[in-house]
Amino acid sequence: MVVDTKYYDILGVQPNATVDEIKKAYRKLALKLHPDKNGGNDPEQFKQLSQAYEALSDEKKRSLYDQFGEKGLKEGPNSDSSDPFDIFNMFFNGSFNNRQDNRGKNLVHQLSVSLEELYNGAVRKLALQKNVVCNKCEGIGGKKGAVSKCTTCNGSGFVVRINQIAPGMIQQMRSHCSDCEGQGKKIDAKDKCKTCDGKKIVRERKIIEVHIDKGMEDGKKITFSGEGDQEPGLQSGDIVVVLDEKEHSTFKRDKTDLHMKMQITLIESLCGFQKVIKTLDNRPLVITSLPGEVIKPGDIKCILNEGMPVYRNPLEKGRLILHFDVKFPNKNEISPENISKLEILLPQRPQVSIPMDAEECVLLEFDPRQSQNSNRNNIYDKDDDHHQSGPTQVNCATH
Ligand SMILES: [Zn+2]
Ligand SMILES: [Zn+2]
Repeated sequence: MVVDTKYYDILGVQPNATVDEIKKAYRKLALKLHPDKNGGNDPEQFKQLSQAYEALSDEKKRSLYDQFGEKGLKEGPNSDSSDPFDIFNMFFNGSFNNRQDNRGKNLVHQLSVSLEELYNGAVRKLALQKNVVCNKCEGIGGKKGAVSKCTTCNGSGFVVRINQIAPGMIQQMRSHCSDCEGQGKKIDAKDKCKTCDGKKIVRERKIIEVHIDKGMEDGKKITFSGEGDQEPGLQSGDIVVVLDEKEHSTFKRDKTDLHMKMQITLIESLCGFQKVIKTLDNRPLVITSLPGEVIKPGDIKCILNEGMPVYRNPLEKGRLILHFDVKFPNKNEISPENISKLEILLPQRPQVSIPMDAEECVLLEFDPRQSQNSNRNNIYDKDDDHHQSGPTQVNCATH
């Protein structure tokens, strides 16, 4: 039991979720909620998601959270949560913010793919917007020689403001110079590059081809080195495409295994059947159960080499696993005379000896909403439709 489900709710998972489920939930939501995506999301939502992920992805923090809620994390060691963008970069690039190592930002893009595409392989075109260095001004922002030292900050990029906070007490505040946006340099409005408006970079539409190989898994990252955002003076970042496997109506994937439900009727279960299964590359497979084999509800069978292809070794495939459910005839669907025929045909019923002092009970439909200890009297009080107790009916009440 957990005291607070807030973090689980933010990630949209159950409190008993596995580490993998938590990672997957974070991956999907982080790409959706990142403030850079979809023209700006609410940064607060992104921050909350990061906090929830940071706590639940760490075994120690998760157990503290489960026992004491958010309070437990605030009191514990390392209570400061990390920068949500650092968590994001760690997750998708395996390294902290890459600005320090002189590179532009990586662009992370989620690509929704079908199970068929992951089975057969596919090439998908992806259009995205990225920053490129303006080639009109070569990333200077204006005419060569038009760049001059900012006079507001004297080229430092910072301004110092002096506040008097109390008589005789002065506070110095250092902040970015707003005239040159902390650059220390300025271009006169008339000399600004018309193409980029002095910003040195322009937005460009870029189409990339994503090769989806047979057997790739949900969450697979495909990196296009140096194709990310450009910034003057920095090395380009990467484009990272993250595959997001769509749910399939028939198959459920577990690495290289495919699972599917198969419903058969009672007659098929007892007397055998043939069924056709369409594979993900549209081949019909026929399966046969021989008469008398008897498939029971919950039985599991498998077909070898008809699961998902193994990534980088696609001739090898996993298993196709069939979970059987047997559809029984409905109430009163079998006529009384056929029931007596069945009595003769089916394996004999076991003999039951009933003691003289046995109490006779009524079998009711089970209602899980009913409270466990309600006795028959108050059941009838609540529900008038069932008012049918009479001398012929003996109810079995446990005391
Ligand atoms: Zn320009
Ligand atoms: Zn300035």
